[in-house]
Amino acid sequence: MAWVTGHQLRLYNSLGRLTEDFTPSADVVGLYSCGPTVYAYQHLGNMRPYVFADTLRRSLRWKGIAVRHVINITDVGHAVADSDTGEDKLELAAERERRSVDEIAEFYTKDWLAALTALNVQPADEYPRASAYVDQMIEFAKVLEDKGYTYQVPSGLYFDTSKSPGYGQLALLDLAGQRETGRVEHVEGRKHNSDFALWRAEEPGVRRIMRWNSPWGWGAPGWHLECSVMSMALLGDHFDIHTGGVDHRELHHVNEIAQSEAFLADDRPWVRYWLHNEWVLLDAQKIAKSAGHTLRLADLVESGYHPMAYRLFLLGGHYRSQLDFTTTAMDAAQATLRRLIARVAPLRPLPRVETLDEARALADGTGDQAALAYVEAIDAAITNDLATPRLLATLQDALRDPEVSTAGLRVVVAAADALLGLRLGDLEASEVDQRRTPEDLAPQEVAAIERLIAERTQARKERNWARADEIRDELDALGVQVTDTPAGPTWQLR
Ligand SMILES: [Zn+2]
Repeated sequence: MAWVTGHQLRLYNSLGRLTEDFTPSADVVGLYSCGPTVYAYQHLGNMRPYVFADTLRRSLRWKGIAVRHVINITDVGHAVADSDTGEDKLELAAERERRSVDEIAEFYTKDWLAALTALNVQPADEYPRASAYVDQMIEFAKVLEDKGYTYQVPSGLYFDTSKSPGYGQLALLDLAGQRETGRVEHVEGRKHNSDFALWRAEEPGVRRIMRWNSPWGWGAPGWHLECSVMSMALLGDHFDIHTGGVDHRELHHVNEIAQSEAFLADDRPWVRYWLHNEWVLLDAQKIAKSAGHTLRLADLVESGYHPMAYRLFLLGGHYRSQLDFTTTAMDAAQATLRRLIARVAPLRPLPRVETLDEARALADGTGDQAALAYVEAIDAAITNDLATPRLLATLQDALRDPEVSTAGLRVVVAAADALLGLRLGDLEASEVDQRRTPEDLAPQEVAAIERLIAERTQARKERNWARADEIRDELDALGVQVTDTPAGPTWQLR
């Protein structure tokens, strides 16, 4: 079979916390990734799960494995603070922005999809919206009720986690402890803290905007239900890989597993591999402009960074490592990207490569043994639980290696980019170079700016405000921003 070529693909499975061989269970691997709740802009850190899932998809394709990828869009049922009670995030946003719930969902879904495109994330096969699957969710909850897994309380229908034998395995939960000391949200009649809502009934006297009738009264589905229902509807009862941010490993995915395995009751794990990406730690203060609102990809672009620089920043860390987002790190990523593009541009056009087999055949055709060895090294890196930092280092090694022929290097770069997705085949240096720093200026330009600033300081000393303002306007026109500090004026380029 085609996928057995090269190194065995190994992935870290959160279920069991071990790196395991990945073997597809079907001709087309089902891949489900938890998507956004579309009530606000997605912040920068929240884009990491999709770049990670995209890397996984590219790696599977590299090994000749066909994939069907589903990412859900949560446009109903997600209460504030991930709790089971209270208002929906969507409904609150609609009130805040004086728009309809549909408009809110549509607007933020579009913004998120545009960010994915900018990050060169390949489109999923399906983006199901939760609101389109409420009937199926009700059916699913009815089955659980018939099987005796549920109980009703004033606020809705709850899943009784004590009836789920393996509950919490994914999160390595200490069950007894979790049931006693879990989250503090008080729900009247709830038997255990870990029990969760399948159906959230309307509170008496409160009419929700998004409401459906159900055997448990008017209301809305619980948040966890949608992923079980939509993944099974689009990928079949069982599928191979489920991904998400590491925060989902502790609650959302635990509950997805409990309700799905209760529903299927076939003594098989519902999903075989659970993969979770770590956080991006944002120090928003360091990007001064963004203070006070959600830092998103569009802000980075406005500050002069290319989306591919952010992708490179993400791939520079392993998906299971936390990443510190800082302007220094972004500057470094942008500089690395700029150098990469400058180095690979003369090699274009690159050959079309998607799989290891294709890369090997092309490298073979060049007769370049060094290039062939780099293709194998790329395979070794990506099959080792998607070790993108090592893959990037391998690419840099190849670009510096005098032993590799130009024809061979073309294949190596194309092979690396089939996995990295950094657009090394078509990204123009001029696209990346939007951000200017003083180092980009000629010495005489810097001298001219500093002369103007000195003149302005002098004018201020002489209380010649008109002249000082005039000079400030001149500097402004040059894109120079002056900041007066106790130690004297400093400047930067906008
Ligand atoms: Zn989910």
